[in-house]
Amino acid sequence: MGRVYSITSPAPKGGISYKQITVDYENMPVILKPIYTGICGTDRGIVKGSLNFAYCPLGYGDLALGHESICRVISAKSNKYGIRSGDIVVPIVRRPGQCLNCITGRSDNCSDGDKHEAGVTGMHGFMREEFGDSPEYLLKVSSDTMKEVGVLTEPLKNVEKAFEVYDLVSRRSISTDRFGSLSEKRAIIIGTGSEAFLYALKCRDYGFQTLITNRHPIDDLKMKFLDTAGVQFFDYTKEHRDESGWDLVIDTSGDPGTIMRFLRKTNNNGNVILFGTNGSAPATGIDGQDIDHIIERNIFLIGSVDGARVHYELALKDLERWNVQYGDKIKSLITHRYSPDDTSVFTKKDPLEIKSVIDWSK
Ligand code: NAP
Ligand code: ZN
Repeated sequence: MGRVYSITSPAPKGGISYKQITVDYENMPVILKPIYTGICGTDRGIVKGSLNFAYCPLGYGDLALGHESICRVISAKSNKYGIRSGDIVVPIVRRPGQCLNCITGRSDNCSDGDKHEAGVTGMHGFMREEFGDSPEYLLKVSSDTMKEVGVLTEPLKNVEKAFEVYDLVSRRSISTDRFGSLSEKRAIIIGTGSEAFLYALKCRDYGFQTLITNRHPIDDLKMKFLDTAGVQFFDYTKEHRDESGWDLVIDTSGDPGTIMRFLRKTNNNGNVILFGTNGSAPATGIDGQDIDHIIERNIFLIGSVDGARVHYELALKDLERWNVQYGDKIKSLITHRYSPDDTSVFTKKDPLEIKSVIDWSK
């Protein structure tokens, strides 16, 4: 048994304490120390007590938070996955249950819900000075240059999975333009958080004309980043766009009214990726014309959650490439670095934040 200095939350009651809990990890084959752990709305929701699906591991009254991370291997027993002491790795968040999807490596498509997620559902997370894991759940990061942006692997793997589904469903018709490319096709991303930015980069890689929107303006730093990537921002409450419509709509807001606003402007054979979740968002009306619109235009609605090992691998490859393509700019997605002692990051979100991380060297 080892003492672990952890940020813990007595989920699902809410509230945060920064205290030592005892977690047995020393018998695990690999011992890890986080370099960075990322913060997202899920961590903040657990701390607030608003995510009633979060629960502690069996036998514990606390939950160590943290599912986005990049870690250094402190020690590793010999293993067939090539994980060695000194390696930099990204741990996989979701751990399989017993269903067919889970046992064949696709716990992202779990069919009975009997899986666990580190730092969220029934498994301690990665926001600890040290923790143990099995090598099969670790992905090696190729170089030290990825030490920083590698913390984006976990949020980006969700995007990779959504595009896997997009690739499948977009084959049902000719989805390219008259040049055989996507340069005349338009993607719109709703929301301007970290997932939205990652979606925007991916849409640019695909060659879409890419726009991103929110119900308020965004700061210069975000505008500058989007400019670098060739992505246009507009505040949909103020600006009137042309009527050429959307070929791909990606929602990260979870707001039904906003989703319908953009879905109503979706083109023939368009695809709509529903990604954002907000259980407390207000209801919106859908009428017969909306249903006709979806049917008559062959619009495909895609719900997409999580990602599998293959998507972590794709995410790592994309981040390595973007690291070269965008240089230091990609690092500017990490806007805030907190010390592990500063738990205020769980209760406040700076309006300038794209991604906040805890720097475990502090
Ligand atoms: P986030 O930073 O909270 O992003 C949500 C964005 O949506 C924010 O920029 C927010 O704007 C914007 N938004 C909220 N209501 C809006 C509206 N009515 N119109 C336009 N924009 C609106 O969270 P994130 O980490 O990027 O994640 C995005 C969403 O995906 C979250 O809901 C998260 O829970 C979910 N998620 C899903 C998966 C999955 O596998 N499906 C995985 C991870 C996360 P402001 O806050 O600036 O006002
Ligand atoms: Zn399963």
